[in-house]
Amino acid sequence: MLLDKMRKKFLLGNWKMNKTVAEAKEFANEAKSLGDIAKKNNIDLGVCAPFIDLIDVKNIVGDSLIVGAQNCHYLEKGAFTGEISCEMLKEIGINLSIIGHSERREYDNETSTKCNLKIKALLKNEMTPVYCCGESLKTYEEGKTKDFVKTQIVEGFKDLTKLDAEKVVIAYEPIWAIGTGKSASKEIAEDMCKFIRNIIKDLYDEDASNNIRILYGGSVKPNNIAEYLSQPDVDGALVGGASLKVDSYKELLTNLL
Ligand code: PEP
Repeated sequence: MLLDKMRKKFLLGNWKMNKTVAEAKEFANEAKSLGDIAKKNNIDLGVCAPFIDLIDVKNIVGDSLIVGAQNCHYLEKGAFTGEISCEMLKEIGINLSIIGHSERREYDNETSTKCNLKIKALLKNEMTPVYCCGESLKTYEEGKTKDFVKTQIVEGFKDLTKLDAEKVVIAYEPIWAIGTGKSASKEIAEDMCKFIRNIIKDLYDEDASNNIRILYGGSVKPNNIAEYLSQPDVDGALVGGASLKVDSYKELLTNLL
């Protein structure tokens, strides 16, 4: 099942290649009660875990937290060693996946064209894609951020209908801010999220641009999450490092209530 089509606040953790099954279970047991706080405050709260952790985390948290994957393949099955399909994720109750994270774009040759296929595969399975975009430091310093991100969005959304486009969650994550402790200012985050919203307006219409959710990611911490979320076009945060410990994950949530 897809997430609600509304611009609810969204806090999504990305554990990357962290947490053994035992560690993931410990986190899940401690964090599952946070789901009630999130629901009462109309916030979507989730974590994207390594494949091996997904079944256990999902079994522990049930529907109290959203449990997502960090990647998926666009085909249903076949000779793709090491890959996992949307159908496989769906069978274990996983309804969301990050797509096109900059680390996968950099180390695994993930292109926006490939992301587009993955987005379509997720939507076909009624799952939510969280599509990441964002520029490198070099692109930022050359002043080419907007052209670069626009291409990522246009290619990622190629041939999606308006109805499908609205179901995608976009995460704007400048690469120079990911895991560096050097977060973008709230003004940059807002400017880019607004820019992306306008691309959606140009590709579809005002309605689609008002409905789509756009998150900021890049060194979001408990002490800066509120300022990002106070921006009109920033609907939530994709958080790596600060989502790994339950205390800090909880603080992220409470600081945006
Ligand atoms: C991320 O993993 O997408 C991310 C933004 O990481 P961090 O919060 O650690 O910068």
